[in-house]
Amino acid sequence: MFDKIVIANRGEIALRILRACRELGVKAVAVHSVADRDLKHVRLADEAVCIGPAASADSYLNIPAIISAAEVTDAEAIHPGYGFLSENADFAEKVSQSGFTFIGPRAETIRIMGDKIAAKKAMIAAGIPCVPGNGEPLGNDNATNLKMAQEIGYPVIIKAAGGGGGRGMRTVHTEAALINAITMTKAEASSAFGNGTVYMEKFLEDPRHIEFQVLADAHGNAIHLGERDCSMQRRHQKVVEEAPAPGITEEERNRMGEQCAKACVDIGYLGAGTFEFLYEKGEFYFIEMNTRVQVEHPVTEMITSFDIVKEQLRIAAGEPLSISQDQVTFTGHAIECRLNAEDPKTFMPSPGTIDQFHMPGGPGIRCETHIYNGYKVPPFYDSMIGKLIAHGDDRQSAIARMKTALSEMVIDGIKTNIPLQQDIMADSAFAQGCQNIHYLEKKLGTNK
Ligand code: ADP
Repeated sequence: MFDKIVIANRGEIALRILRACRELGVKAVAVHSVADRDLKHVRLADEAVCIGPAASADSYLNIPAIISAAEVTDAEAIHPGYGFLSENADFAEKVSQSGFTFIGPRAETIRIMGDKIAAKKAMIAAGIPCVPGNGEPLGNDNATNLKMAQEIGYPVIIKAAGGGGGRGMRTVHTEAALINAITMTKAEASSAFGNGTVYMEKFLEDPRHIEFQVLADAHGNAIHLGERDCSMQRRHQKVVEEAPAPGITEEERNRMGEQCAKACVDIGYLGAGTFEFLYEKGEFYFIEMNTRVQVEHPVTEMITSFDIVKEQLRIAAGEPLSISQDQVTFTGHAIECRLNAEDPKTFMPSPGTIDQFHMPGGPGIRCETHIYNGYKVPPFYDSMIGKLIAHGDDRQSAIARMKTALSEMVIDGIKTNIPLQQDIMADSAFAQGCQNIHYLEKKLGTNK
């Protein structure tokens, strides 16, 4: 195991990684911007290094500064968390070239998965079911493109190979709109992502978002930890996540999970990862692979009693997976509510000082947050200030525990989305489960 690592992130995930380090006896170096001196994990870490000004571009995205911090503190590895540089292949490469271990997959793997066309090709080759459409870059021949759309069947979606964060895609419902949509998406993609390559696939109208958690070591072993349902979304951002996904049978879980684990072996995957699928009419369609730990990993941890972050460190240190597939068991149901510093109605960010904070508790409740009484939420970063996770024997008891926990929680001084989360937990359609990715926006009245 490593002696010391750098946590190249902030907020709740940095604290989560710090806790994993403590359990494993690994020393942790916190790197932070000038705006983040008071972060909880910065105070608790063994060492802290300021890596630049508040703006992420100058600090959490500043590759030379992060690598220098690893050098001056004599650390051995860098954990990127999620967001920021976690899926940046150049960063992973520079970390390795500088003699440190990147806690994540190899740079080549990140590069392939970061290109939607390359990722789709790799998945088709590995036998993972993909959205109809061959995934080849679209050329300039209108007749060929029209024929392809006709074969796939409308509606189709034009997607940028280099797109991300829900940007760089356009849905086309009629033949008349196709050519113009391709031209526009290409132009937008080259200005936004520096890569004008686009491709076409079937547009699924009412899918659910279901994803599989995988872990793969450097010795050719890979396992899956089942699936999560993340269909409660607003503007392609997940709001509530749960595991297992309602209505998914054990047969579907085993079949898809095993396919994902096998694909990891095929592509030489290393570390924790997530295969994201759209699920419609009983079929799974791959959309992307996230090559990092995810915000929603705790729901999987709660139903498997398995620590994903500690396993990331073990895998990066070269250890074999600590469990085999037949040792993975699923118990009960877990739900996660993301907590954001924002107005629950307008969704405007609400940074500021937290005057009072009371953390909820009780059986099955887990609170992942870096906030504390008097902590000042800075205006420079993502508005997520934590996550509340409830585990119960079944979905109904997880929801009941979540409702109690949300009502106990006090965050004064800033606005939060707790009222929205309470509204979702009290929603009768949510209680039924199996809602699609458009449900929340329809409920909020912001859909179309
Ligand atoms: P990004 O990397 O930008 O997050 P994804 O490929 O993961 O892009 O897609 C983001 C979201 O766009 C999906 O969660 C889904 O809501 C929608 N989407 C993507 N592809 C399709 C498709 N073929 N049919 C319907 N919706 C899609």
